[in-house]
Amino acid sequence: MSELSRLMTFAGNPLDRAHLKRLDGAWLAAALKDEKAKILPLSQGKVLIWETRQKEMRLAWLSPAELRGIDAPTLFLGIEGEIPHFALDLGLRAGPFAEFGSFVDLRLALSTLPPAEAAMAGEARSMLLWHERHRFCANCGAASESVDAGWKRRCGACEAEHFPRTDPVVIMLATRGDEVLLGRKSIFPPGWFTALAGFVEPGETIEEAVAREVLEEAGIRVGAVRYLASQPWPYPSQLMIGCTAEALSTDITIDPTELEDARWFTREEIRVALAHGDKPLKMPPPFAIAHHLIKLWAAEG
Ligand SMILES: [Zn+2]
Repeated sequence: MSELSRLMTFAGNPLDRAHLKRLDGAWLAAALKDEKAKILPLSQGKVLIWETRQKEMRLAWLSPAELRGIDAPTLFLGIEGEIPHFALDLGLRAGPFAEFGSFVDLRLALSTLPPAEAAMAGEARSMLLWHERHRFCANCGAASESVDAGWKRRCGACEAEHFPRTDPVVIMLATRGDEVLLGRKSIFPPGWFTALAGFVEPGETIEEAVAREVLEEAGIRVGAVRYLASQPWPYPSQLMIGCTAEALSTDITIDPTELEDARWFTREEIRVALAHGDKPLKMPPPFAIAHHLIKLWAAEG
């Protein structure tokens, strides 16, 4: 793993995903009854979280005993040492869990959630949302079922197999000497600018996707593209691929359906914005890969 990827929120999952255990029905059944097992309840993408006395967020892992009588789909996340970890999909039933914590959007917990817990919760969230949105076979339309401890869906009607997806997104800084191109959408808080980004389309390389997105969104042509780091992003399941790109043109023409504004910023302007979050120019938060790409560029030169 590149040193920079290691710093990303949602990276560094400590679990051994133990893929062979996914196929072992007897082991899984025993693991789900193992009193050491840790089971994380989720409801519609929100994660059960409790708050310590120091007001820090922690995942509310429950034991099989605490979940007795609750019948809901489980997903095998992996093992840490001897301890099997699962996620439990409660769907709409946010039910009788008030004594353990409350269901929270992960993003609201990231400032105090330990990085390893954020990574495990991200894995659980992406996977359970995939199941929620892929209940029917994309080939024939019949209902499909979860198999292999949640890591595959199978259609009983046409026997097609469906695997969890990750959508690649390029996120990039176009740079030109001592300047960097950043943009903003109208939904952003005032003064907030960040790296441009977009989905990789079928039939494209990462480099081609970077060049197309920068040209489409800001009218800037780019040459050499350099990969820097990646970040799993569980909203719902993307892989953010962070790059820099050497700009070959200067004049910006924004696509108003994508961006409200795009500008070249000097390294000095970016350094001031990173050092003083209260200044008019605001940078993306540390849990976003864009923050790290910008910080790295600002430290160069
Ligand atoms: Zn089918």
